Amino acid sequence: MKVRAAVLEEFAQPLVVQDVDLAPPKAGEVLVKVMACGVCHTDLYTASGVDPSGYCDCVLGHEGAGIVEEVGEGVTSLKKGDHVVCLFSPECGECVNCRSGKTNICTAIRAMQGQGLLPDGTTRFSREKGELRHFMGTSTFAEYTVMPEIALAKVDPEASFDAICLLACGATTGIAAALWKADVEAGSSVAVFGAGMVGLGAVVGAKLKGAEHIMVVDPSPVRRELAMQFGATEVLAGGDDIVDQIVERTDGQGADYTFEATGITSVMDQAVESARIGWGLCTVLGVAGKGEQMKITPRFLITGRKVQGGSFGGAKGRTHVPQLVDMYMKGELELDGFISHRITLDEVNKGFDLMHEQDGIRSVIQFS
Ligand SMILES: [Zn+2]
Ligand SMILES: [Zn+2]
Repeated sequence: MKVRAAVLEEFAQPLVVQDVDLAPPKAGEVLVKVMACGVCHTDLYTASGVDPSGYCDCVLGHEGAGIVEEVGEGVTSLKKGDHVVCLFSPECGECVNCRSGKTNICTAIRAMQGQGLLPDGTTRFSREKGELRHFMGTSTFAEYTVMPEIALAKVDPEASFDAICLLACGATTGIAAALWKADVEAGSSVAVFGAGMVGLGAVVGAKLKGAEHIMVVDPSPVRRELAMQFGATEVLAGGDDIVDQIVERTDGQGADYTFEATGITSVMDQAVESARIGWGLCTVLGVAGKGEQMKITPRFLITGRKVQGGSFGGAKGRTHVPQLVDMYMKGELELDGFISHRITLDEVNKGFDLMHEQDGIRSVIQFS
């Protein structure tokens, strides 16, 4: 079938929205009609050419939600008409990692996904010039996409697509990190570094868990204001003495939980140092540039602080995303406030421009 898609033709150039061919789903695959898709930093990062593992030509987009249009042979957990959130982080339920119960890093299709291919080593997107690769196993900057069954979370069909698409990446990363990965305790103190969608998600999660003192650090006044709306109890602009500022505000101890959501390694160091002596837990969520390293003084670990990280906030996509959608439907989870701009697929480059200008939290592409 012919579908409209935003193609990364060349690094550091605008995406080219065009009609491309999409082949039907093969065994274990599903054709999804994409209804909404957030424009995330990772799309921009890949498009810029800075990401050393990036490739083109490919169809970008990984924060999508939509409707199952057709299922391939052997697909049993989904049927036509199901509403789904598209997952760059699959959950097969059968690999050693999935069965361990200790991690959300499913290894079932990892190797092929990293190369922009579906699990059988081929692509479904193409055009006259040749094949187009998939991106993060999702390629949701397209009217329709083909994805593996294990990378689709079936969710409540009543939920609005433009809100739940955010659970495909940024929002879940922050929320799940606070809810489950760090398992924030009621009454605790929390410091969140970075008030983009991931950081704000951590604020939302910490608030849900009953954290008492939620500090958010961000140099942008606009984002600090947003953080207050999402549940921060105190906002700080940062600075070289930010660790001292946090220690001072936590009775000289440091925060029980810290979350890093900037991808800047010096901020990650600050997040470790701001964690409380004895049991402070630092969760690193930002993605740093290749080769960049954190500097941790061993004394901080010897004195009981712990450091962990979590891709997708440690969330198991098919298990946790439907739960988050249910929480959203019950009004427990704020998602709509993340959406700052609604655009069309043809305006996808505008979504990147808005991100460059740090205008708002999320642009969401709406498909008709
Ligand atoms: Zn993302
Ligand atoms: Zn698995």
